[in-house]
Amino acid sequence: MDYAYTDDEIRFRDEVRAFLAKEWGPPDPVAGRDVHDAERERGFMSKVASRGWLTMGWPEEYGGTSFSPMERYILSQEMNRAGAPFPLYNVNVLGPLLIKFASDEAKSELLPRMRAGALKFVLGYTEPETGSDLASLRTRAERQGDGYVINGQKLYGLPHPADGDIIFLAARTDPDAPIRKGISIFLIDSSAEGVTVTQNRTLGGSHVGATYYDNVYVPASRRLGEENEGWRYIRECMDLDRVSGIPYAHFPVLFEMLVAFAAGHERDGRRLADEPWVIDRIGRLAIEVEAAQLLQEMMACKVYAGAEVHAESSIIKAYCTELESRLTEFGRELVGELAALTTEAGVDEFIGRLNFLSRLNVAMTIVGGTNEIQRNIIALQGLGLPRG
Ligand SMILES: Cc1cc2nc3c(=O)[nH]c(=O)nc-3n(C[C@H](O)[C@H](O)[C@H](O)COP(=O)(O)OP(=O)(O)OC[C@H]3O[C@@H](n4cnc5c(N)ncnc54)[C@H](O)[C@@H]3O)c2cc1C
Repeated sequence: MDYAYTDDEIRFRDEVRAFLAKEWGPPDPVAGRDVHDAERERGFMSKVASRGWLTMGWPEEYGGTSFSPMERYILSQEMNRAGAPFPLYNVNVLGPLLIKFASDEAKSELLPRMRAGALKFVLGYTEPETGSDLASLRTRAERQGDGYVINGQKLYGLPHPADGDIIFLAARTDPDAPIRKGISIFLIDSSAEGVTVTQNRTLGGSHVGATYYDNVYVPASRRLGEENEGWRYIRECMDLDRVSGIPYAHFPVLFEMLVAFAAGHERDGRRLADEPWVIDRIGRLAIEVEAAQLLQEMMACKVYAGAEVHAESSIIKAYCTELESRLTEFGRELVGELAALTTEAGVDEFIGRLNFLSRLNVAMTIVGGTNEIQRNIIALQGLGLPRG
């Protein structure tokens, strides 16, 4: 298989890079992941939308634009490399899912806002007692007249009611059915009456929330697809997400920052880049960063060529989130004890960013299914090992 980009793909990549340099700023592994500047993001997103990049791969009648699958991959990589916000999950997963299964009413209300980059979704899956074992969720949706009444609690997804977010909520509609059979999906306004949101600051510095549903009424038109078929849509999301993946194109940028730091700083009168332990680590990490890039390109080529993929996205998730930890750990060792300080403590910007990333890494090994769960998938689906 030839993983090299074609001339047209290189032209597209350069066009995206030029757009990002003008509209967002220089590549930065932290920019879009640190403090969110809602106004800046909104302005940027409307420029992304005007290029038709938020509907890549959607059917034409819903405003879909004709970019090749490889161009979609390149766009998500470049957005990630630049540290720019990009609603990859909306474009690749939720948009296509809504087009396929949402009611006409929900489609005409939500899709135009998605196309314009003006709608954020949060996933309402996890509950206090339900994370990896998602099918055992307890939040209830009971039929009442033309709609449903929701009661329960979700963890993590953080809606911003002022932005008019939508919660993609999994709730139990039939408590007597086998656990995977009695779940339905609802598209709930985070500002709906009865929804309460609380915020918790994570070790990584970002905020996650808890949402509480106290007799929240949702019309049946906001149910996705069929009642009690929610597990099927959750699986479809996972399949589409496998294609979409989480891009890790910021690793080469981070790696170059680490090498530049080693080349430009001394310890005990010796340049860090001349120390044998630094040379050894740089060599190892250079190989791993290259391997991460190749893994993502191999997966993209396979998926877009229609080949079957099994455990690849789990391999990429586990490998890349743990590689980011190794990169930031190396950075902390280069910096020394100052690496324990955050930007708020007034340290050099590079050190503050490293500190932020090393705290964020912990969350990234958990978000979207923990790395232990990814390893189970690799063992079962990738290697065909028996269930333990
Ligand atoms: C920053 C952040 C953002 C998040 N955002 C969202 C969001 O927007 N929406 C949402 O719904 N959820 C979100 N989550 C939740 C996330 O999906 C869950 O935390 C994750 O699935 C793990 O579930 P849990 O926390 O209940 O841990 P548990 O499932 O209780 O797991 C605890 C530990 O046991 C291990 N474990 C569990 N089962 C197995 C098994 N079968 N084999 C081996 N090990 C196992 C796990 O790996 C973990 O180490 C977010 C989480 C974080 C940290």
